Amino acid sequence: MRVLIAGFQHETNTFAPSKASYEDFLRGGAFPAMLRGSDLLAMRDINIPLGGFIRAMTDAELVPVLWAGATPAAHVTREAFENIAGEIVRAASTRNFDAIYLDLHGAMVCEHLDDGEGELLNRLRAVVGPHIPIVASLDLHANVTEKMLTRADGLVAYRTYPHVDMAETGTRAAFLLRRILQRGNALYRSSRQIPFLLPLNGMCTLVEPARDIYEAMAAAESQHGLSLSFAMGFPAADFPECGPMVWGYGDSEAVEQQVARLADQIISREAQWAVPLLEPEDAVRTAMKISANASRPVVIADTQDNPGGGGDSDTTGMLRALLACGAQNAALGLMVDPAAAAAAHAAGPGADIILGLGGHSRVAGDAPFESTFRVEQLCDGRCQYGGPMMHGKWSDLGPSARLSVGGVQIVVTTHKDQMLDRNLYRMAGIEPEAMKILVNKSSVHFRADFEPIAEAILVAKAPGPLLADPAEYPWTRLRKGLRLRPLGPAFGG
Ligand SMILES: [Zn+2]
Repeated sequence: MRVLIAGFQHETNTFAPSKASYEDFLRGGAFPAMLRGSDLLAMRDINIPLGGFIRAMTDAELVPVLWAGATPAAHVTREAFENIAGEIVRAASTRNFDAIYLDLHGAMVCEHLDDGEGELLNRLRAVVGPHIPIVASLDLHANVTEKMLTRADGLVAYRTYPHVDMAETGTRAAFLLRRILQRGNALYRSSRQIPFLLPLNGMCTLVEPARDIYEAMAAAESQHGLSLSFAMGFPAADFPECGPMVWGYGDSEAVEQQVARLADQIISREAQWAVPLLEPEDAVRTAMKISANASRPVVIADTQDNPGGGGDSDTTGMLRALLACGAQNAALGLMVDPAAAAAAHAAGPGADIILGLGGHSRVAGDAPFESTFRVEQLCDGRCQYGGPMMHGKWSDLGPSARLSVGGVQIVVTTHKDQMLDRNLYRMAGIEPEAMKILVNKSSVHFRADFEPIAEAILVAKAPGPLLADPAEYPWTRLRKGLRLRPLGPAFGG
């Protein structure tokens, strides 16, 4: 058996400030850099779907083409999409294989088309014909479209957020592909859209209702011999098919029943998907109160500047709130500001430097924070992750520094990454366990590594491009009637 393998990952926030260019895919950023040919096989030990797929397919001959992912941002440029999709489709046109596996995200919007993955699957289907199975794995944040469902023979999504099961999802895709190949034709499919957008902070699968829903889904899947998926959607992509979707494959009667049941469970708990959001100073005051009598830090998610959702990781609202409230023993990361990092390296440890720190992404209500900062420590920004989500991965964040102002320590870097691993603090000389308050520029992913050390976790709403309440976006193109948050107003009516 020969299986063509490729990957193309992007989560598009159509409201974000910066687009994803071909160069961004070359560099990777939050993902590994672009890989071609046999270099893809080196991904087998990384916690990404392709890794799990490769490990599950040792008996097959893999035909590796290309793997590319870029940090979440606004639209993928036409050039980037056409180059990368073009390369995958050209390789598929040889038809020199028995099946295709794609490692996709599912929430890609391009400058020139709404549904990047649907378009790629459509072009692949056109060149391989109806009989070569195409299976893809998707992120839990996929906005699954009708085109994606009809052009692929199988789609499977992650079941965890933080995404600790990326490789496992690749393994599930391999299992589904084998089943389709053994049968010789596609499985029956059923799907249901959920009629409201889910806020990102409400999607965490460590807590209810998501934990319950995914447990029930896995139980129904094994009980009835089905493949079931629930993608919660990425609620920052302004196009008609944005939103959560439930789908599955298997025996027609069972799959119809179980997909309907799962959708009903999700809908019946509508109110529980909303999470309390605090204003920045309320969050800091609450954290100070809790941490005063605790031996562990309180973690505040600066969710609206999450670089995993299109933020530039440089807004200053939470820094202002920490200083306004006089918080001591607090740390904040990552503050991405290449000029500030360079200034710190030029001045050296122990120096005081005057800067307008962060606030460069022109987010409404945000601005650089002008002050004198002490350069506490310099580092090269090389960091190996130790937490469960990206264990073992190396990040190269460029010249970096720990600056301090008032009672706040700030990890300043040159390149962007999400604060989802405690080692990102340690690389700058901060022991996260020893702090009273940690402010992480992340929505949910940080929980995998920080929940075990946190006294409490709060979610704050400082100005940023990734709105925690999806109803606040200036939507123009959603489908009519979709509720903009759980129990919220409906679009277009
Ligand atoms: Zn995701």
